[in-house]
Amino acid sequence: MKQKKYFLSEDRMPKFWYNIAADMPNKPLPPLHPATGEPIGPEALAPLFPMELIEQEVSTERFIEIPEEVREKYLMYRPSPLIRATELEKALKTPAKIYFKYEGVSPSGSHKTNTAIAQAFYNAKAGTKKITTETGAGQWGSALSYACALFGIECEVYMVKVSFQQKPYRKIMMNTYGANVYPSPSNRTEAGKRILEQHPNSNGSLGIAISEAVEMAVKDDQTKYSLGSVLNHVLLHQTIIGEEALKQFEMADDYPDIVIAPLGGGSNFAGLAFPFLRNKLQNKKEVRAIAVEAASCPKLTRGKFMYDFGDTQGLTPLLPMYTLGHNFEPEPIHAGGLRYHGASVLVSQLLKDGLVEASALNQIECFKAGQLFAKTEGIIPAPESNHGIAQAVREAMICRETGEQKTILFNLSGHGFLDMAAYGDFNEGKLVEHELSSAEIERSLAEIEASQPKMAI
Ligand SMILES: *Cc1c(COP(=O)(O)O)cnc(C)c1O
Repeated sequence: MKQKKYFLSEDRMPKFWYNIAADMPNKPLPPLHPATGEPIGPEALAPLFPMELIEQEVSTERFIEIPEEVREKYLMYRPSPLIRATELEKALKTPAKIYFKYEGVSPSGSHKTNTAIAQAFYNAKAGTKKITTETGAGQWGSALSYACALFGIECEVYMVKVSFQQKPYRKIMMNTYGANVYPSPSNRTEAGKRILEQHPNSNGSLGIAISEAVEMAVKDDQTKYSLGSVLNHVLLHQTIIGEEALKQFEMADDYPDIVIAPLGGGSNFAGLAFPFLRNKLQNKKEVRAIAVEAASCPKLTRGKFMYDFGDTQGLTPLLPMYTLGHNFEPEPIHAGGLRYHGASVLVSQLLKDGLVEASALNQIECFKAGQLFAKTEGIIPAPESNHGIAQAVREAMICRETGEQKTILFNLSGHGFLDMAAYGDFNEGKLVEHELSSAEIERSLAEIEASQPKMAI
């Protein structure tokens, strides 16, 4: 008999991930080959990912079973709690009911562990020896480092240079899990060297770090690459969050009118919102789903829907998404996990079709909301998560005006215990609002519009 490790009811945890592609009225457009501009088949992704993840990437199955080995690891911290933020409600004097799903209980402190464990599992099963990846604020790097340690895989992380400097503890955390961490751009790769020649003082960006990690994976067939957001299979793994929340709302005898999550690449938003959107798409229940981006990286609200690369050097397939252009380098805000130039294909298509909403918030408003949350509910949120909280506060204040008792759910995607430097800056009044000019955005977009593949979208 198998040794029992956790003493809680396992049937509280869903056994399936949800694939929203099955229910979307307009299916996502295909990825295109970076050189030919032709739609690519799954085999083109084989140098980067193990086959089972590629199958998930293109799957149209509605439900995909979570392997038992993955569920066993999830049980370390799942189901994650759904908590009613009663103290926050009181402080806001709002009639709204505010709930949050707390993903900071995962070993590495954010939702990212949900896909890290799944990806490491499928890689281990396929015989992968090493996984390369990029990380912004370091949450993804720490999640993957831990997951690789669990499954006995080497892990190599390219960390956006500005975060590498701002967040030394994240690097130490990854090293402690056994990973090697390099500031990006680095001189270990051709992509990194090219950037350093042009911009010796580059702050780095997720796009650049992805180029480096992809290059290292393509060079060696024992090495694969792993992405912490954006791709369909990553969003799929995160739907465990919303599936649990659905069950928990049944226990609470309630149902959200509004579902909110911060958006970097789109995975935690998708993870929370997609299971609720299933009910909306199947005409069972109305819900407003709001993705909240950083005002200094506003691809959903100020970018354009078009084909663009996932990385800076143009090594990845072209994806149809809301983007600011793959050369866009956002200001070094503290919410490093929101500094990505594009949004996932699935979220982008849903936004284009008016099925989800987007909002862009400034960092000072977000930190104020984060501080209020800390003072009321006690948890100090990740700077990224503050964006979701600030939007929830906005909605709750509208209810205070109108007297409506709406039910608001947001994803507390991670804790901010390693982000004290950011809170220090906020407390000392050192945070600034970055005004992003339209000219800047247009310049960045013009570069990719010129090279659009001749497919009408
Ligand atoms: C990475 C991250 C985000 C945003 O990333 P998505 O890909 O949009 O999920 C939000 N919150 C935290 C804590 C993160 O680590």
